Amino acid sequence: MSTSILRLVWIYPDLLSTYGDRGNLLVLSHRAEARQIMTESIMVRSDQVVPREADIYLIGGGEDGPQSLAAQKLIADGAVTDAAARDKVVFSVCAGYQIMGRSFIAGDRQHAGLGLLDITSDRGPTRAVGELAGDVHPQLGLPTLTGFENHGGRTHIGQESAPLVPQVSHGIGNDETSEGAWRGKVIGTYLHGPALARNPQLADLLLSWAVGRPVDQLGQLDDTWSQQLRQERLAALA
Ligand code: GLN
Repeated sequence: MSTSILRLVWIYPDLLSTYGDRGNLLVLSHRAEARQIMTESIMVRSDQVVPREADIYLIGGGEDGPQSLAAQKLIADGAVTDAAARDKVVFSVCAGYQIMGRSFIAGDRQHAGLGLLDITSDRGPTRAVGELAGDVHPQLGLPTLTGFENHGGRTHIGQESAPLVPQVSHGIGNDETSEGAWRGKVIGTYLHGPALARNPQLADLLLSWAVGRPVDQLGQLDDTWSQQLRQERLAALA
């Protein structure tokens, strides 16, 4: 952690807040503060400079126009690229996930991403809308990932990143096989929900990376409600 306060940055609420992914910021802040880890949540509009000194950077989903504008601005700003190089945590969703990759298609044109994940995104034959579930990459030590996807893009993972879910059991995800990607402390997923409310252990993994403490030393929280929601959604897919 760069200071005694955990600094959380929500990138470009004016461009990429279409799908309620700002809930991820609220979940992280709540789960940190419940463990007496004080947080500061910083909203950075697209006409502002992204802070260099922060612990977790979050970016959400959006439509094609705002997505390509956000990518251009983040490349020019450089702070997220710099933060990832310093091993800071980046959690990206849908349009934000595609922006973390090498390139993506928006408005029938290819756009450059930040290249923090070794992924490229193009267009799929259909829009992927609905519930998704699948077992998480074993190295991350997390339970089944569950959430809601809503995207037209398809994503292909290169050698330098690993899938978040190697094989989906329901839904489309990246390409009807895998879902999401990660490299170091940069994670991307197609899942809304918001993803961290649907997957609280993933939220705790991000917190543990940010504070440099193992997950089992963060302290237990009462997750009855989110576990109930997870079970309901997974049972509906069975
Ligand atoms: N525009 C992107 C796509 O359709 C991202 C959509 C989203 O963020 N939900 O693939």
